[in-house]
Amino acid sequence: MNTIKKPIVIVGSGFGGINAALNLRNNNPDFPILVIDPKNQFEFKPLLYEVFSNEIKSWEVNPKFDSIYANSGITFIHNRVNFIDFDKNILILQDDLKIEFEYLVLSTGSSPNDFSIKGVKEYCSFFNTNEDQINLKKLLDKPTTVGTNNKIFIIGAGPSGVELACKIRDIYKLKFEIIIIEKTPEILNNSKTFNKEEAEKTFEKKNINVMKNCSVIEVTNEQIVLTNNLNQVKNFSYFEVIWTAGIKPNLPEFNKQIQKINNKILINKNLQLQDFPNIFAIGDISQMENNNSSPVTAQVAMQQGEHVALNLKLLINNQKLLPFKFNDKGEMMSLGIGEASISGIGLTLSGKLAFDLRRVIYASKMPKFGKSLKSTASWFLEKKSIFKNIL
Ligand SMILES: Cc1cc2nc3c(=O)[nH]c(=O)nc-3n(C[C@H](O)[C@H](O)[C@H](O)COP(=O)(O)OP(=O)(O)OC[C@H]3O[C@@H](n4cnc5c(N)ncnc54)[C@H](O)[C@@H]3O)c2cc1C
Repeated sequence: MNTIKKPIVIVGSGFGGINAALNLRNNNPDFPILVIDPKNQFEFKPLLYEVFSNEIKSWEVNPKFDSIYANSGITFIHNRVNFIDFDKNILILQDDLKIEFEYLVLSTGSSPNDFSIKGVKEYCSFFNTNEDQINLKKLLDKPTTVGTNNKIFIIGAGPSGVELACKIRDIYKLKFEIIIIEKTPEILNNSKTFNKEEAEKTFEKKNINVMKNCSVIEVTNEQIVLTNNLNQVKNFSYFEVIWTAGIKPNLPEFNKQIQKINNKILINKNLQLQDFPNIFAIGDISQMENNNSSPVTAQVAMQQGEHVALNLKLLINNQKLLPFKFNDKGEMMSLGIGEASISGIGLTLSGKLAFDLRRVIYASKMPKFGKSLKSTASWFLEKKSIFKNIL
């Protein structure tokens, strides 16, 4: 076994980063590992809707990094990486602290993309972080009086827009008229057919409207301006506009141009940067060569985190690295309070049972944290022993 002089540095402690760090630690007790993140706590984003609807408490899905890394021998630094020098192998942090690395894993995730559409940044709400869900709840809790415009526009009928619309309907009942704006002719473009059909049925039942083939041109402090595929332009007043229409990678600055694709870092099949074999990029910030179809999900980031730990060990020991292969375990979607739809893992399921199973599967993805969720999981597994084999 070879030894290394400097710690393996992992930048970003989300789904990819945590899995990389914990797997590295489990398989290689002697490697020094340093994790850097500007946040104090992990955000389990797939359950953000349930925190929003109070079905789950925030502390259950946002455990502190201190507790995740306690007694693991992994060093955690609460800081942001602002700059990377690829030639000197140096990171520069927010407070100008410099850190040298020999091996680096980048896993800094993504944030909403406003595509430079006028007024989006200024006037729309977002739903990407715990802070966003707190802010949105405060806004929607405000009373509406007779004559107040009660239209909520949700931009983008991807999973985020669809799941959020269903929760808002169930939490606020008939307080709002909910309209989803979708640029293409159908909702949930990249989702499994079963989940798409379940979502369509749920929209019908919950009276959620979708304007398809429709795009946002501008948002002002009072109006949203839309256009359809016939180039007709319409303005609407709104109570709130919520932007769930796209994401962009969070990238620090670099000392030189690196190869990118769709603004993401281009990686080879072993998850390494093209010209820098000691540097890996995983999760939402990266795209693998010759692969346009890999989804941008926690599932991918977690599997890549595990794989990068394996490949780092092989690299350090001068062995041949292994290519990453995504194992699609299916897709789960919440469709309101106590309802969900699941397609994959050998089954399709909707309703209350799907909701419970979704929660259990997510609990099982929280390696050493999420105590309350884990107890829900063990309760459920005792009751529904048929699911033991698929988790
Ligand atoms: C509302 C919502 C619901 C979702 N639902 C699902 C779902 O049901 N299923 C699914 O598979 N996926 C879902 N996703 C997508 C999933 O959350 C992401 O694909 C996943 O989080 C990506 O993992 P990651 O490790 O790349 O980034 P993240 O998990 O976002 O972690 C990135 C980390 O990097 C840190 N960071 C950022 N910049 C820096 C910097 N400069 N220096 C140091 N640290 C930095 C951040 O603070 C963060 O902790 C959802 C996303 C959202 C927003």
